[in-house]
Amino acid sequence: MQQEAVQRNGGRLLLIPFPLQGHINPMLHLAQILHSKGFSITIIHTTFNAPNPSNYPHFTFCSIQQPLSQTQDFLDFLLDLNVKCTTPFHDCVTKILSQEPVACLISDAICYFTQDVADTLRLPRIVLRTGALSSFLAFAAFPLLRQKGYIPIQDCKLEEEVTELPPLRVKDLPMIKTEEPEKYYELLHRVVNTTKNSLGVIWNSFEELESSALKTLSQEFSIPMFLIGPFHDYFSASSSSCSSLILQDQSCISWLDKHTPNSVVYVSFGSVAEITETDFLEMAWGLANTNHPFLWVVRPGLIKGSKGLEHIPSGLMDNLEGRGLIVKWAPQQEILAHSAVGAFWTHNGWNSTLESICEGVPMLCMPCLSDQKVNARYVSHVWRVGLQLEKGVERGEIERAIRKLMDDNVEGKEIRDRALKLKEEAKLCLEKGGSSCSSLEALVTYISSFTFQAS
Ligand code: UDP
Repeated sequence: MQQEAVQRNGGRLLLIPFPLQGHINPMLHLAQILHSKGFSITIIHTTFNAPNPSNYPHFTFCSIQQPLSQTQDFLDFLLDLNVKCTTPFHDCVTKILSQEPVACLISDAICYFTQDVADTLRLPRIVLRTGALSSFLAFAAFPLLRQKGYIPIQDCKLEEEVTELPPLRVKDLPMIKTEEPEKYYELLHRVVNTTKNSLGVIWNSFEELESSALKTLSQEFSIPMFLIGPFHDYFSASSSSCSSLILQDQSCISWLDKHTPNSVVYVSFGSVAEITETDFLEMAWGLANTNHPFLWVVRPGLIKGSKGLEHIPSGLMDNLEGRGLIVKWAPQQEILAHSAVGAFWTHNGWNSTLESICEGVPMLCMPCLSDQKVNARYVSHVWRVGLQLEKGVERGEIERAIRKLMDDNVEGKEIRDRALKLKEEAKLCLEKGGSSCSSLEALVTYISSFTFQAS
């Protein structure tokens, strides 16, 4: 996105991301999009996983100090953040308001603590939901799902259909592994309620992709919904990576340059997911047996209880004769846009799913937790631009699935064709008159109405 010479007359916006990579990326993209529309931007962030201000010289950054650590249990981390950030956030916003008027606050939906602070300070609050509408519908349905007995999930019912949320099965419900499910239900209740009580929701999605979920949500939530995504497509692949918390290994690109179109499997499970050592080994053998080249992101912490690559069987990489490249963190959007990449084996985090859709890359889905399960089901059964590993992580099934996606066969070709068609729809929605372009104009007008009140 070009930083045109726009007059900063839209007022100041305060944006607070939730401090994990999959949330920081879309929030900073949103900040750049709104900056290009004339708004001044202040990013309020935790000292933990802080973005790099030098990549955004045109924004103001305010950090709030609090002792947080991602090494604790994931659910405890989410809850802890919502408690510990309240006072420093309140003090930070109060200080900003004493210096200049603010049009509104845009808060990640998971930072539900911002609702009380905004109410106390009489600051308009809009929410950014960084996931899909379809998975949010499932989160919002938790009270009903519990009442109907789908949750807590029973192993004998995993394949049962959830008739209230087609085409989800019980095993696709966005659960996490926890000893304290009540804490998880409470967290979701707060996120859903403070989203409902906000003045509007911004989505990193587009209408053509999620029209049915939009219809249902609009009936349940009587607040404006702005589907203005895919955010990363407002920028070039290389310039949209400024928000990466980890240094991206650029050597992958020259490695990909040496490969023929659609020949490489790209494998990445995002910034949070963990897999067991057994699954990791099955993945390694499954990949090796396909005979396709592969580029695999193995970040420290991906394998439970391990920091590095000590689990890769000795000899496996040597026998591949350069057919596999493993890196710790990659320029994912550039990789997905590269002609050599023929399939993406993903955990279906929403950003990864959307990035793959936008490049027309078919997916092999292996969701690990929460909304990833809903996303995977939509990829394989609604948009039908991928296949899901259904029978656990087993080298034979992996090999068959990758061959189906990449080799010459009818089912694979149909999936690849649909993926290319969906890519075109994603492009069109950002063009003038397209759904996301129009929704962004509506959002700018909406926020500007707050500016008017504030000044
Ligand atoms: N990502 C990246 N390099 C990698 C792996 C992932 O830059 O090696 C980026 C990816 O492009 C996406 C984000 O990290 O924007 C991950 O977000 P997602 O929602 O897919 O998953 P999460 O990390 O939240 O589970």
